[in-house]
Amino acid sequence: MQDSTKLIHSIPVDELTGAISVPIYQTSTFVQEAPGINKGYDYARSGNPTRAALESIVAELEEGTVGLAFGSGLAAIDAVLKLLKSGDEIIAVDDIYGGAFRLFTQVYEKFGITVHYVDATHPENIFNAITPNTRLIWIETPTNPTLKIADIQAIAVIAKSNRCLLCVDNTFASPALQKPLSLGADIVVHSATKYLGGHSDIIAGLVVAKDPELGAKIKFMQNACGNILGPFDSWLLIRGIETLPLRIKQHCSNAQAIAEWLEAHPAVDKVFYPGLQSHPNHQIAKKQSRGFGGIVSFTLKNDTEAAATAVVTSTKLFKLAESLGGIKSLLCHPAQMTHKSIPDKKRHAAGVSDSLIRLSVGLEDVEDLIEDLKESLVKQQKNTTFGYIFESEAPLTLQKETN
Ligand SMILES: *Cc1c(COP(=O)(O)O)cnc(C)c1O
Repeated sequence: MQDSTKLIHSIPVDELTGAISVPIYQTSTFVQEAPGINKGYDYARSGNPTRAALESIVAELEEGTVGLAFGSGLAAIDAVLKLLKSGDEIIAVDDIYGGAFRLFTQVYEKFGITVHYVDATHPENIFNAITPNTRLIWIETPTNPTLKIADIQAIAVIAKSNRCLLCVDNTFASPALQKPLSLGADIVVHSATKYLGGHSDIIAGLVVAKDPELGAKIKFMQNACGNILGPFDSWLLIRGIETLPLRIKQHCSNAQAIAEWLEAHPAVDKVFYPGLQSHPNHQIAKKQSRGFGGIVSFTLKNDTEAAATAVVTSTKLFKLAESLGGIKSLLCHPAQMTHKSIPDKKRHAAGVSDSLIRLSVGLEDVEDLIEDLKESLVKQQKNTTFGYIFESEAPLTLQKETN
């Protein structure tokens, strides 16, 4: 059975009433017949039927055994880190999500957990960083915002042979494109705020474990630490997931067209999109995922903050905002937004240059999106003409655009 069919039919019909939509069980507690005798639920932190429906849908979608829903992506990440103890070490991808980096360094390091950051596009970097204390390997693929791809299967082999857990943050790809657990990972985490929710209307996080015992340990943390997703947000997330395969298909095709169009634009320097032949990890992306996602980043020949600001403040359809993965197209300027706290030198080394712009390509008509970008690139050129001529040899007219 194909994913889209499986997904739609993994959403249960309500046994009590036959309701085709999962009911929102807005309750804190459940009546018991006698102490300890109940219908599977006693207190809603430990379990809620709406949340439970979501958790089993996502476990199935990620091909794992235990799914768990949290109040945010970071809460999901936090629950996984709580598997560790003082003295343990983590190897993490060097361009990790900023909030995860903050959690690792400012919260967990003081409890004696050490993190080593490596470029995960070369699995041998992970192998070389392993010590007898390494317990967890943490990767994101594709990464933010330069969309680097790590070979999940190769890294899973390294993890297994060294008795480490491999956790993949699958937020950017979503299970519609990539199934890390089937490629050998132990745990998947999501910021469900992004593609799984898909409508920019909730903050939510998910964990899925491959092994039931490991899943039970994380479930213990969910209950013991209490960072659960509420029933209404669980319901909104189910509603979002129902259309995931359909939405992702359109995100991918829009993003591919925009990436190709940008690559041919005279004002654009580099384009980062795993679906482009020019992307250094294109082959691995093709091997391990069904599509290349909805995020496209690019830099300008006029590689200045001013030029990028001119673009991100002049688009009409692409709204300037943090976050990604929703139906409405968004764009952001990492140097002044998501990556502002990273020192310039470190940021440049990671490929996030001053003009880098990240697009979260939405579900609008792709011709309209391209028109929006076209106009804003012309405006950028006019607004910063002096810098443009001065800093690059690029032609002044933008006549030669393809498409
Ligand atoms: C947004 C994001 C997170 C954090 O999720 P929240 O829902 O904002 O807590 C974690 N990982 C990645 C890759 C993200 O994009």
